[in-house]
Amino acid sequence: MSKTSTGKTGGADSAALHERSRLSFDLDVDICVIGAGLAGLTVALEASRLGASVAVLEGRHVGWNASGHQLGTVMPGYGLPLGQLIERIGFEDARELWSLSKEGAEFVRANATEQAMPGIALSQGVLEVSNVDVGDQLISRLQMLSEDFETEVEGWQVDRVRAELATGRYFHGIYYPNAFQVDGRKYVHGLAALAKRAGARIFEDTPVVSIDSSGIRKRIVTPSARLRASHIVLAGNIHLGAPLRRLSGTLLPVWRYAAVTAPLGARLAEVIAFKGSVVDTDGIDHFRIVDGDRLMWASPETTWAARPKRFGRVIARRIRTVFPKLGPVEIAETFGGAIGQTVHGMPQIGQLRRGLWVASGFGRQGLNTSAMAGQLIARSILWGDERWRLFSPFELVWAGGPTGRIAGYFIGMWGRGSSAAAGALARHRERARAQERIREARLAEFNRQAGTRGTPRRPQPGRPRPVRPRPPASAPVNSGDGGEGA
Ligand SMILES: Cc1cc2nc3c(=O)[nH]c(=O)nc-3n(C[C@H](O)[C@H](O)[C@H](O)COP(=O)(O)OP(=O)(O)OC[C@H]3O[C@@H](n4cnc5c(N)ncnc54)[C@H](O)[C@@H]3O)c2cc1C
Repeated sequence: MSKTSTGKTGGADSAALHERSRLSFDLDVDICVIGAGLAGLTVALEASRLGASVAVLEGRHVGWNASGHQLGTVMPGYGLPLGQLIERIGFEDARELWSLSKEGAEFVRANATEQAMPGIALSQGVLEVSNVDVGDQLISRLQMLSEDFETEVEGWQVDRVRAELATGRYFHGIYYPNAFQVDGRKYVHGLAALAKRAGARIFEDTPVVSIDSSGIRKRIVTPSARLRASHIVLAGNIHLGAPLRRLSGTLLPVWRYAAVTAPLGARLAEVIAFKGSVVDTDGIDHFRIVDGDRLMWASPETTWAARPKRFGRVIARRIRTVFPKLGPVEIAETFGGAIGQTVHGMPQIGQLRRGLWVASGFGRQGLNTSAMAGQLIARSILWGDERWRLFSPFELVWAGGPTGRIAGYFIGMWGRGSSAAAGALARHRERARAQERIREARLAEFNRQAGTRGTPRRPQPGRPRPVRPRPPASAPVNSGDGGEGA
């Protein structure tokens, strides 16, 4: 298995949370789940609640990778934008898939109670902001989300967004009042605790080295034990490795890092009033306030693993670029993990052959989607619920191996570069419009003083040209250039 990275300094993910038990004896169960991330643990919880005997085998420890190092933002939908989802599978199926993604989010909400997971700190509201000025597109998206996809949303004008976030970087926004956030690390450990309480057995430091899924009773081999199970659920994400290499080859590994700043005091509230998570439409910025006056911020994705500390500096620079008024910020903690990205952008959920299931490829939106996958798979095994078949159009497509990673790297760079360019252009246009407004006001004032109204008339031939007042030295006007930007 490859390596995930964390530059954490203690916190909730400390050794105290893990009472690790390794599997050292042979076992017979109904369902064997490989991987104790969000996906594997949700399958285990749901299947145990429905009465199955479940063993979870985890090569490291619960939440070792992305699941234990995420920001805890729970929204409806998938990594694949809704418009593309409709194009791919049609309106009706897209509606059903969207509705399943909402069920996934509600599953997280139902489990993430203070009673079941003390300190989970669930809070409401997520704001999706646009890096470009596309107010007209926003209206049609709002209509589609609320009328066709029954999702509660509010459209926020630029002024409203900027009243909450003191930056010129973002334009319009879509506010999801029912989306929410939780303490991501507490959630994955809370899920493990709930699964155990429901009867699942979780074995850590127990990598699965091979599987034989051909018979009715399937065989699973670990370094120190053998299992037999009627169903195997592969929930190992990009780290699955030996048990099914071809499956790992269908995921592009993408690393994402995040940082939490040192306390920023009152200056944080001066630039960020919004209390929930903020995500941008290009998937670059993702942040929220934690512990009252710290900022938790995720970096853009990269297809190469690196030291999280290095990303601490990158994130500090990004925070400064977006919120210059905040001044320098000190990074207190960095962490990160690898997410599995599929070629089509949708998760891999379904039955590969009788009794062999897959739940992976959740990308950057894994909380609601892995919850949904866990429910779908457990209910199919135990109740015959066939809704996972809605994911059949999204086949297992080879992600290109190392060549795919190189391509992914350049595509990511290009995507970030082009959205940065689009953002810069939108900001330039906005500045140009502001300059145009100042110029028009000056012209109007000049016309008023000159005793004319409306559009300035051309001077009559032979009459002296009126002299235009010069702008005061401090005025932010570019001489003569007030036109609409490129
Ligand atoms: C910085 C960051 C921020 C994020 N923020 C959010 C967010 O706010 N909201 C959101 O919805 N999503 C977020 N995500 C995405 C989300 O974390 C992932 O989509 C999700 O955690 C994937 O879960 P998983 O169970 O598929 O995989 P993983 O978490 O990778 O779990 C897989 C587990 O399987 C184990 N395993 C693999 N192979 C074997 C084997 N052979 N034997 C035994 N065990 C094995 C691994 O050790 C691992 O623990 C974020 C991700 C990152 C990195």
